[in-house]
Amino acid sequence: MFSPNNIENIQECLNFISGKWELPEEKMGHITSPFTGQIIANTYRSKNATVNSAVLSASKSQQEWEKYSYRDRAAIFLNYRKWLIENLTELAKIISNECGKLPNEAKDGLLKGIEILDYAVSIQNLDQLGKMTVSKGVQCEYRREPLGVVAGITPSNFPAMVPMWMFPIAIMVGNSFIWKPSEKTAMTAYYLAQGFKEAGLPDGVLNVIQGDKETVDLLCDHENIKAIAFVGSTPVAKHVYTKATTSGKRALTLGGAKNHIFLMPDAINELAVEGILSSFTGCCGQRCMAASVLLAIGDTQKIIEDIIIKAKNFTPGKDIGALITKQSLQKVEKAISTASLNKEQILVDGRNPKVEKELSLGNWLNPTIIDYVLPESILAKEELFAPVLSIIRCKNIEEAMQIENANPYGNAASVFTTRGDIAEFVTLNARAGMIGINVGIPVPREPFSFGGINHSKFGHGDITSDGGLEFWSNRKKVTTKWFQIKNQNWMS
Ligand code: NAD
Repeated sequence: MFSPNNIENIQECLNFISGKWELPEEKMGHITSPFTGQIIANTYRSKNATVNSAVLSASKSQQEWEKYSYRDRAAIFLNYRKWLIENLTELAKIISNECGKLPNEAKDGLLKGIEILDYAVSIQNLDQLGKMTVSKGVQCEYRREPLGVVAGITPSNFPAMVPMWMFPIAIMVGNSFIWKPSEKTAMTAYYLAQGFKEAGLPDGVLNVIQGDKETVDLLCDHENIKAIAFVGSTPVAKHVYTKATTSGKRALTLGGAKNHIFLMPDAINELAVEGILSSFTGCCGQRCMAASVLLAIGDTQKIIEDIIIKAKNFTPGKDIGALITKQSLQKVEKAISTASLNKEQILVDGRNPKVEKELSLGNWLNPTIIDYVLPESILAKEELFAPVLSIIRCKNIEEAMQIENANPYGNAASVFTTRGDIAEFVTLNARAGMIGINVGIPVPREPFSFGGINHSKFGHGDITSDGGLEFWSNRKKVTTKWFQIKNQNWMS
C-alpha cells in the first residue's frame, strides 16, 4: 500500500485539496500512540485561506461530478470497495495504531463503513422516488438533487467508520465533500482519501481539511457549504448545530451517550454475560453505543459474578485496546476514585494493569466494575468513554426505567431477558433511539438507519441509510402537463 511516509516514521497529517496533498498553515501538535506513548504524527490547523480554497475547488468539482450518472458513480465506488477489501488488514493496523483499538476491532469498524458504501451503491436501484398521474393529464414526480459542497466533522474513536457514515452517501448523490477528521486521530484520512482517488474519484470531490475547533468554526460559517454533519461529544454537537444552522445550513449533529442495560433475573446467562461484557469493554469502552450503566433488577447475582470472572482475565493489548489519550485515562481514573467516597464497591479495578515494558507509557485501563452506584453519582450520570460498568441495583423494572428515563442522552438501551412483555416494556418506554433485545451493542445493520434522540442527536433524521440520503439531497417536486383539457377544474 502507498504511504505518505513510512508508517514507522512520524506522519505529517496533510490536507487533501483538489486531489493534492498539502501542508496546512499552522503546526498544532502531535498524535501519540495510545499503546506506547510515542509520537507518531504531527498535526496541523487549516486557517481561513485554506478553507476558502478547499470550498472553491470542491465547488468547481461538484459542478462536473453532478453530471455523472448514478451508474458511473457506482462504478468508481465499486473500485473503491475492492481497494478497501484488498487493504483491509493494513488499514485496520493504521486505524488501530492511532486510536488504540485492537486491529480486529478496527477491521469491524471498517466493515461497517463498507456496509454504508454498499448502501450508497444501491441507491441507483433503490431510489425510485415517485411519479404519479395526479389528475387528468397532470403528473407529479420527485427528482433528487445534490446540495453542492457539504462537510463532515468526525470524532476520534472511529477514524474510518464514522466518516464512512457520511461521505459515501453524500458523494453518491452528487455532492462534493469536505471532511475534517479529529485532530486526535488524523492519520487514517490520508489512506481513505488516497484510496478513493486511486479508485477513480475525480479530484476535489472528496477533500480533507485538518484542524481543530478553529477550523470547525470556519466550516460552520462558510456561506458556500450547504450542509454539515457532525459526530462527537454533546457540548460540541450543540455548538456545531447552533453555529451551522445560524448561518443557514442544514445540520445533523450526533453527540455523546450514557447507555443503560436492563438485566432481568430470567436472562439467558451466556447471552447476557457475553453481551454485557463485550458491550462495555469493546473498543476499550470508547463507543457511543457502549453499555455504561447496568440496571440489575432483582436477583441477577450469578450473571454479575460470571461477568466479573471474565472481566478479571483481560490482558491489555490482547483482549482490550488502550484509551485514546493520556487525558482520557486521567479523567476516568479520577471518576473511578469517586467510588470510594460514595461507598460504592469496586468489584473489578482495572487501573494500572500490568503491561510489557514497551507498553508502559500507553493509556491502559482494564475492565472496571463498580457496584451499588447511586443514580446521582458521576459514575451513573457522566459519559466516561472507558471500559467502566456502573451497576445500579433496582427493585423492579419500573424503578430501572425511571433511572434510564432521567438520563439526558438517548443513543442506546438494551434489555437481557427471556420475557416478551419485559422486552416490549423496554422497547416502548426506554428513551433511546436504538434498542437491543439480548443484544449489547444495538447498532442497526443497513438499511436500518443509525441515530439516537435527545442529547445524543441534534437535528432531524438519521445519519445513515435513507436518513443520509434525505439529509444530503433535496427533493425537487415537478408537476407536468402536456395538453389542455376542456372543462378542467383547478386541480386538473
Ligand atoms: P469531540 O467532541 O472532542 O471532537 C469531535 C470533533 O469536534 C473533532 O473533529 C474536533 O476537532 C471537533 N471539536 C472539538 N472541540 C470543538 C469545539 N470546541 N468547537 C468546534 N469543534 C470542536 O469528540 P471526540 O472526543 O473526538 O469523540 C468522542 C465523543 O464522540 C464521545 O462523546 C462519543 O460518544 C461521541 N460519539 C458519538 C457517536 C454517535 O453516533 N452519537 C459516535 C461516535 C462518537
